[in-house]
Amino acid sequence: MKKTGNINVTSENIFPIIKQFLYSDHEIFLRELVSNAVDATQKMKTLNTIGEFNTDLKKLRVEVILNKEKKTITIRDNGIGMTEEELDKYINQIAFSGAEEFVNKYKDADAKNSIIGHFGLGFYSAFMVAKEVEIITKSQKAKSKPVKWVCDGSPNFSMEETKKKTAGTDIILHIAEDSEEFLEDNKISFILNKYCKFLPVEIKFGTKTDKIDDPKGKKDDKDNIIKIDKVSDNIINNTKPAWTKKPSNLKDEHYKSFYKELYPMEMSDPLFHIHLNVDFPFNLTGILYFPKLKNNLEVQKNKINLYSNQVFITDNVENIVPEFLTLLHGVIDSPDIPLNVSRSYLQADGNVKKISSHITKKVAGKLSSMFKKDRKDFEQKWEDIKVFIEYGMLTEQKFFDKAKDFSLYKNTNNEFYTFTEFYEKIKETQKNKDGKTIILYTNDANEQHSFVKTATDKGYEVLELGGPLISHLISRLESENSDTQFTRVDGDIIDKLIEKDENTISKLSDKEKEKLQKIIEENVDKEKFTVQIQNMSANDLPVVITQSEFMRRMKEQQQLSGNGGMQMFGSLPETYNLAINSNHELISKILSEKTNKKKVNLINQLLDLALLSQGILKGENLTDFINRSVSMIK
Ligand code: ADP
Repeated sequence: MKKTGNINVTSENIFPIIKQFLYSDHEIFLRELVSNAVDATQKMKTLNTIGEFNTDLKKLRVEVILNKEKKTITIRDNGIGMTEEELDKYINQIAFSGAEEFVNKYKDADAKNSIIGHFGLGFYSAFMVAKEVEIITKSQKAKSKPVKWVCDGSPNFSMEETKKKTAGTDIILHIAEDSEEFLEDNKISFILNKYCKFLPVEIKFGTKTDKIDDPKGKKDDKDNIIKIDKVSDNIINNTKPAWTKKPSNLKDEHYKSFYKELYPMEMSDPLFHIHLNVDFPFNLTGILYFPKLKNNLEVQKNKINLYSNQVFITDNVENIVPEFLTLLHGVIDSPDIPLNVSRSYLQADGNVKKISSHITKKVAGKLSSMFKKDRKDFEQKWEDIKVFIEYGMLTEQKFFDKAKDFSLYKNTNNEFYTFTEFYEKIKETQKNKDGKTIILYTNDANEQHSFVKTATDKGYEVLELGGPLISHLISRLESENSDTQFTRVDGDIIDKLIEKDENTISKLSDKEKEKLQKIIEENVDKEKFTVQIQNMSANDLPVVITQSEFMRRMKEQQQLSGNGGMQMFGSLPETYNLAINSNHELISKILSEKTNKKKVNLINQLLDLALLSQGILKGENLTDFINRSVSMIK
């Protein structure tokens, strides 16, 4: 007998609202319905294991069927099905109240954008694409009668007895005119591949054709066995993805091939992986991969896929894992991450916090054990992983505390040190007059070559600290290690920086120095250069241009923060120190030159050489220098 009813909702017509609210995410109807179907088959499995009854579990399966003529999509399962009472309870009452609650909660347009998963909306998401939905279901319970439920998107539904031989459920969607894009095979394949690729029960969509050898062994003229078409079910998913398996059952190649499965377009292998497997106090599984990083960090983000019980939820894991970890690739699966909430709520969620700090701990632990186990190998990987580690150290204190023991610093001889190792090596020999240890570094050994050479020739260690984050990391390291001071090799004259026992004796008298200072100052741009007469070694260069570490960092930070920050300083001018080596013979020559013209020529030549070695001699000045050099050689 046919029954009709009125679904217990206050709003007259809930479906247009659902449709409007979920506009950008219409495709998730398929995820919701397929996961319901999978749940139904999983329940069947559970009943079976507790011995309620016996079915052939191998045949448990979900099928998605597209009918273009009838304009329907059917989601079919052979799971536990529903009795009439269950249908009434779960679909008419509970699910509807869930849908209504959803609509009430997110009525205002602002909140709409902050909902991530719209999970929990479940069955009724079907009405985002269907003008009418039928449920034909038969419970696995003995003697239960099959029922058919129909609803056209108004609060009215009908329920009647129908014919169905085996247990399970068909959900038939009559696709609305404005959603006919979902009647394309490609579209459905795409959505299934996105959300259902790793569901734990076989999902069939269409058929596939393979060429196989003719079983009758027929041959063609050239004696080749004839190939024939074999049509079989097209199963779109891998029911046992690597992250659901025990780490002890997996080898390196399994992890690599799973990586390829996740990112078919990715050319290079990952550097290494971390298998997450926690039961308590939250449930978390997954595999994280360290990718071979490319230059553009932005492009690399959003590669971690978040799953809940093997159902794909999102590839935007911001606020779920610490930001630096979003550079990793891989899968996180946790039913304990709340999905239908706003991102700010997510951040405050206790489980999410625990999961996030667990992942940080695991990643640090893995890196630390790699470092201890095979340091050479770790050093080889360093260039590829350092951006990631430095980013982590700058953004997560907990990670900093662990990573300081394995983060590496390379000197200009390609030798790697931890910070402590390096400090221990130089702490006595590279001190300034305030007793601080000077850590000399270059951010571009090529460009600062003459400075690096001067320092290493004098026996000092120079670190190669490059990359986009380094100036921030340096500030961080200085504040953690207050008795150190980082100075770029071109930051100042080495002999001034580092206190030595012997003081270089001056060849020139104070009077001569005064004269020298005056004549040079008359010939250089005073706004730009501060002239300092310096007792350096006769082997050092005659003129050296340096830029104070402090001023340079200020400028760098000004550039980084754009126009917004550091306004109070205005635009910082380019200023340099001009160190004149009073012990160099060419400097004495300035004083002894006969004519003023010769003096000026020599000063300009020496200044230009110094500018040249800093890479800042450009344009007209460079042309002048070249012409002057040519005529001097003549
Ligand atoms: P949720 O899945 O979040 O519980 P839904 O609205 O998707 O919410 O579904 C409501 C209930 O309807 C489910 O909990 C389940 O009991 C029942 N149900 C939905 N789809 C099926 C199905 N294919 N087979 C059996 N039961 C189903």
